[in-house]
Amino acid sequence: MNIVASDTTSNTTCTVVKVAIVGAGITGLTAAHRLLRRSTSSCQFHVSLFEADSRVGGIISTRYEKNCTLEDGPDSFITFKPGGIELCQELGLEEQIITTNSRFRRAFVAWKGQLEPIPEGFNMIAPTRFDKLFASKLFSRTGKLRMAFEQFIPKGPRLTDESVASFVRRRFGKEALTRIGQPLIGGIYTADPETLSLRATVPKYLDYEQKYGSVTKGLLAEQSKTQKNQKTSHAGARYSAFVSFDKGVGVLVDTLVESIGKSNIHTNTKIKDLNYQEETRQWDLRFDSGESQKFDHVILTTPSYVSADLLKSIDPELAANLGNIEYASSAVLNLVFNREQIQHSLDGFGFVVPAKENRQIIAGSFTSVKFPNRCPENQAILRVFLGGAMQERILQNDDQTLIKIALSELNHYVKFTGAPLSTSVKRYARSMPQYKLNHHLLSDSLLTSIKRHSGLYIAGAYINGVGIPDCIASANKACEALMESLSLKK
Ligand SMILES: Cc1cc2nc3c(=O)[nH]c(=O)nc-3n(C[C@H](O)[C@H](O)[C@H](O)COP(=O)(O)OP(=O)(O)OC[C@H]3O[C@@H](n4cnc5c(N)ncnc54)[C@H](O)[C@@H]3O)c2cc1C
Repeated sequence: MNIVASDTTSNTTCTVVKVAIVGAGITGLTAAHRLLRRSTSSCQFHVSLFEADSRVGGIISTRYEKNCTLEDGPDSFITFKPGGIELCQELGLEEQIITTNSRFRRAFVAWKGQLEPIPEGFNMIAPTRFDKLFASKLFSRTGKLRMAFEQFIPKGPRLTDESVASFVRRRFGKEALTRIGQPLIGGIYTADPETLSLRATVPKYLDYEQKYGSVTKGLLAEQSKTQKNQKTSHAGARYSAFVSFDKGVGVLVDTLVESIGKSNIHTNTKIKDLNYQEETRQWDLRFDSGESQKFDHVILTTPSYVSADLLKSIDPELAANLGNIEYASSAVLNLVFNREQIQHSLDGFGFVVPAKENRQIIAGSFTSVKFPNRCPENQAILRVFLGGAMQERILQNDDQTLIKIALSELNHYVKFTGAPLSTSVKRYARSMPQYKLNHHLLSDSLLTSIKRHSGLYIAGAYINGVGIPDCIASANKACEALMESLSLKK
């Protein structure tokens, strides 16, 4: 920290705080934006954002090709966690937010070769509309009765955590797990529900069981509270659950870059090493090129295995814990068709495929139905998701083979004629942290351990949630900790 100027008339000094942020995905971009905004006349943040890749955005990647907006990674973010919406408001993007197409707000589950709609009223695994549940073709009669019976099953002991699979089986039965729980919750996290932590992914279910004796009862009680609140307040829900921008999620990245300023962002700059200098109380960052630079504070927003590598000589125990977090790999294929090539009515946002179907695809998304203006009206963009924790071996195939597999699997469910107008494959190697049992305890311990190192912070998708709003919240928390260390917290 350098005192660079002193104003004797007002008796104030201007302090310059040099901060390095490693990784320019949504977490790193948010952190850089947040700190630069907090610069005041008495404390100036000099922020350098270092990114190994030639582009910023990390997993977020929106491309524009032949009048199509193509999302290689995330295509939306949720609104019920405030991080995303609040950042958009701050960046002046509120007016550009678009909601999903209200005409087709539903999704399908692939079952016995057909796409069956998820019955209305389902909250992931839990039914709240029994008329719709019993009318559905997705479940057997016994399966439906078992799910409806959840309300009468006594609550289990209060557990710190439980796997998603064990909880769904216990509360809603085996069929609920195989036909909806595994593909839906397991699909979001590209994870195996047998090892996926419920506490770290959908903690409200554990809480509802304890508070209301049943998940369904809990959901119904919360629904009625929300409805009452909406009746008494004029500020009803403004957005649907998932939102994006007219030009795709990349708008958020571009706007953050503008806010941060290109001169503060250094792409093609991989951080190789990190060392603390006791004498100067600064962090020495060494780049791929062999050069190095000193900083007062460093925020690591890299995946946990990269942060582990950077920290291994500084804190072997912390590095080992970071390194133990597993990641799943996947591939996203964007397939553009003429609309008339596809037989399926595409009257939903897409489908998930249960492992029981024994197919080589984990999900498909009807991207151009979900959000408007993604392609010319006579075309359709479909995305196919391959891999994940349960099918990673498929990614050993080359891109051309992945395209062949994706097309054949897609054809099984939506039936199309001829070849797509365009295809693309984006691989996401080790990109989705796997939240195993008691992950919440692990992330608490990581955040406690990092405090041993003055001026060092961690943030990212492996801490408190993988979604964009979670990453934003994680960046905000790291910045708060930094501000607190300077006693600058508001
Ligand atoms: C296929 C897919 C689809 C998804 N869809 C959604 C969705 O629809 N909605 C949603 O909310 N979430 C979604 N997610 C999750 C969400 O996109 C990610 O969790 C989030 O974008 C992660 O952001 P991040 O900044 O923490 O990490 P990253 O985006 O991984 O950024 C980390 C950055 O660090 C850089 N880096 C690594 N090592 C170094 C180094 N040594 N030096 C410098 N830089 C380095 C990397 O190049 C990278 O740019 C999806 C994830 C995947 C994989």
